[in-house]
Amino acid sequence: MDMEDAEKFLCFVDVKGDDECWDWTGYIRPNGYGTFSTHGTPVYAHRFSWEMHNGPIPEGLFVCHHCDNRKCVNPQHLFLGSQMDNIHDAITKGRTSVGESHGRRKLTVAQVLSIRKDPRFHKEIAKEYGVSTGTIGSIKSIRTWKCLVDPEYTPHRNIGEDHRSAKLTEEQVLTILSDPRSQKVIAAEYGINPSSVFAIKHRRKWKHLTTPHPCEQD
Ligand SMILES: [Zn+2]
Repeated sequence: MDMEDAEKFLCFVDVKGDDECWDWTGYIRPNGYGTFSTHGTPVYAHRFSWEMHNGPIPEGLFVCHHCDNRKCVNPQHLFLGSQMDNIHDAITKGRTSVGESHGRRKLTVAQVLSIRKDPRFHKEIAKEYGVSTGTIGSIKSIRTWKCLVDPEYTPHRNIGEDHRSAKLTEEQVLTILSDPRSQKVIAAEYGINPSSVFAIKHRRKWKHLTTPHPCEQD
């Protein structure tokens, strides 16, 4: 990236205060992200902005918005996201700045991840992190920090039974886990998709049930 590009880029940015969104005033793609053309190659504006301030985006990572505003190119609202190990790796190596720069209190990527796994009441968690219960709710249901999704994480309400899409009881799930028959047969019996059986067996769903999966036993 050269100076000329950087200057040209800034002409399309509605620069505001550090905490505010800097909307892209150039071309916006139908997916809501701003696009910028550098030497005839279109690039996403938020990615360009991140690189302008932090250097090249490490391979395998992508640039996410804290503010969930796709048009925003405020570098303070951008962070790197990817599969969990990449994120943890990035944090350990200090490659990424992870603070949430708006709101009353900064949350780090690590904190967001522990909040998602925290089984306590939202009120208790909120108190510990000094944020509102609404913030906790949004984090847990992936309304915020959307890019930061642990592939292993499935948002669940309490034990999962009261979730609208959950048709199985906890007891049934435990039975499915130890059921040696094929996924298709099990799925037919419970009236669910074979893919749901797969997800249960591979602990992508109902992870809170602690019966060891047959594959995990010695
Ligand atoms: Zn923003």
